Amino acid sequence: MSPSDRPLIAIIGGGASGTLLAWNLSRLQAQARVVVIDPADRPAVGLAYSTLSPCHFLNVPAAGMSADANDPEHFLRWLRVHHDPEVTPAQFMPRAVFGQYLSSLWAEMRPEWRQTRVLSYQRVAGRLELALGDGDILRADQVVLATGNFGPAPVAPVTPALVSSGRYHPSGWDNGFYDAITPEESVILIGTGLTSLDVLMRLRENGHRGNVVALSRHGWCPERHASSVPAKTEIIPVGTPATARAYFRAFRDSLADGTDWRSAVDALRPRINPLWQALDLAEKKRFRRHLQRRWDIVRHRIAPEVADFMVAELESGTLDCRRGQVTRLRLHDGQVRLEARTKAGLFALSADHVVNCTGPSRAYRQMQDALPRRLLEDGEVRETALGGLHCLEDGSLTDASGHCSGDLFAIGPMRWGTLFETTAIPEIRKQAADLAVLLRDRCIRDVREASCKTALPG
Ligand SMILES: Cc1cc2nc3c(=O)[nH]c(=O)nc-3n(C[C@H](O)[C@H](O)[C@H](O)COP(=O)(O)OP(=O)(O)OC[C@H]3O[C@@H](n4cnc5c(N)ncnc54)[C@H](O)[C@@H]3O)c2cc1C
Repeated sequence: MSPSDRPLIAIIGGGASGTLLAWNLSRLQAQARVVVIDPADRPAVGLAYSTLSPCHFLNVPAAGMSADANDPEHFLRWLRVHHDPEVTPAQFMPRAVFGQYLSSLWAEMRPEWRQTRVLSYQRVAGRLELALGDGDILRADQVVLATGNFGPAPVAPVTPALVSSGRYHPSGWDNGFYDAITPEESVILIGTGLTSLDVLMRLRENGHRGNVVALSRHGWCPERHASSVPAKTEIIPVGTPATARAYFRAFRDSLADGTDWRSAVDALRPRINPLWQALDLAEKKRFRRHLQRRWDIVRHRIAPEVADFMVAELESGTLDCRRGQVTRLRLHDGQVRLEARTKAGLFALSADHVVNCTGPSRAYRQMQDALPRRLLEDGEVRETALGGLHCLEDGSLTDASGHCSGDLFAIGPMRWGTLFETTAIPEIRKQAADLAVLLRDRCIRDVREASCKTALPG
């Protein structure tokens, strides 16, 4: 069979998820033509690892960032050869270095790369036709949605005058707005999590000296990583009722028994998706309402280097973390006026610039040019009652009627909604390995069926 007759696997998105999937397919020597479609200038690195800033650190120690779950030292060995021979498993590396690692995997396999967007998708004669931004049509047998994280949703209505002023920056992940902020200008960051710290570090790196206010509903700042090993005891024992309250009580009880909170969180990590899926919809909603933010704080901890930076900024008063829910943003006297409320009442702040750092949006239906919106409108995929896409355990997506065609899959952040933990490398690498085996086996089956058909007389 010539390479062009092989089944075609199209991976939409060439960030960490798409790259790890293609890498696994290549290592399995899948009898398929694998095409990765992504308009980015640099393939492999995606949103998280395209940063060039040396102060943007991974929030997982080097020992946890291997591309291969069966070879936990893979990243460490690469680091020792290409970056620092003395590196230790507990060290936190700059995200840019992890980007180089992903690029090295890309270079190792050299997948076919179409540097364009997938605009839409339709089924024609049993195959999937992808309409590409460069005008081409790609006919695929299997399609994997690896489109990752989309920028934050608007937190409040923004007036047209504010939009055109260039003082409101709708996503802290854009690289383009830093040049618009001069060193002495005041800045408000909406959000007090990891993205806000990324933005603040990058501002300071660029020589910014102005005061910065970070604002979020709870006003909680991220927690620091410290050495801990996952607890050996069951944090949420088998048989615990599947309710948010019972999970919370079991967690609290294990802390009362002397388990360190970081160890408890790390021990829960591998079990978190089954625990989540055991909750019914009402309990999932209860968890999101009352516990999600607390969980995010203890789960998404920051590297010690970033924690030191944050503490120094807070202590010197150059960073002010406040509580408040933003209700309105507008241009007033040449500045951005932000109105917010707390239980105590309303208040307003003004600054030269406001940056939305509230993390990824999964409100696909509201996104102008995102492919998931198109797929939802066409009924090819469906949303869960909590947002995000509905998929089966192997990542295959179900359509609006609940039917699973078995040729459209999701990976990484695109499984959010069905899964609770699905955006970090430890989850993505496992999904990539499992999905590659499934796709490889499908290709073997398809090739066999095709050769049987040609062998049949008449
Ligand atoms: C700032 C940040 C820091 C993080 N730090 C860590 C960390 O330290 N450790 C950890 O384990 N995890 C971390 N994560 C989480 C995780 O590693 C990322 O979520 C992961 O990189 C997701 O990769 P992805 O390929 O799915 O998505 P992305 O990186 O978002 O890549 C998706 C790609 O899809 C492309 N795309 C989108 N739409 C289309 C389309 N229609 N057609 C073609 N291409 C399209 C985009 O151009 C993009 O390149 C971090 C995440 C973020 C956002």
